[in-house]
Amino acid sequence: MGHVLVLNATFEPLNIVTVQRAIVLLLKEKAEVIEATEAQIRSQYLTLDVPLVIRLVYYVRVPRRLFLPLTRRTILARDHYTCQYCGAQPVKSRLTVDHVVPRSRGGETDWKNVVTACVPCNQRKGQRTPQEAGMRLLAPPQRPRYAALVLLGKAQAHETWRKYIYNEPKEEFIGDRTKKRIVLPNMA
Ligand SMILES: [Zn+2]
Repeated sequence: MGHVLVLNATFEPLNIVTVQRAIVLLLKEKAEVIEATEAQIRSQYLTLDVPLVIRLVYYVRVPRRLFLPLTRRTILARDHYTCQYCGAQPVKSRLTVDHVVPRSRGGETDWKNVVTACVPCNQRKGQRTPQEAGMRLLAPPQRPRYAALVLLGKAQAHETWRKYIYNEPKEEFIGDRTKKRIVLPNMA
């Protein structure tokens, strides 16, 4: 049996559970199906599409201890082991952590100022900012979202999960601008 991505009520990824566990949540009406496979589960009493992504009906508070620590390992995982300047994917030992604004220039060790860089890019950049070095980041570095620690490794498993794990849901006003709805990007 496969696994199912569980989203919080806000669409934030929370966990990965077995299909059996997901079905229990669905039958207890604690969750709803967001995406399902073509396959079906049949029992004497019901037929269900095998879920891929479910969403909790009620919001679950995220414990602080589950935030992702900032380490070489987690930075490389966040960046998919890809140099954020040239897109190269060498072996892990040939990847470095680069301070976008160098520490010598007051750059902080923070999720938004550290990226994965291959050795040649890191050497080329040196103690300069990307602008000074004439280099561009593939994307601005972000703090990974909750549960990224658990999910980063497993996210490869299902292409369908990726958009929920890596894209920030946005809030958008509807109607008379008093109500908001949550919009997921790339939901075509
Ligand atoms: Zn590079």
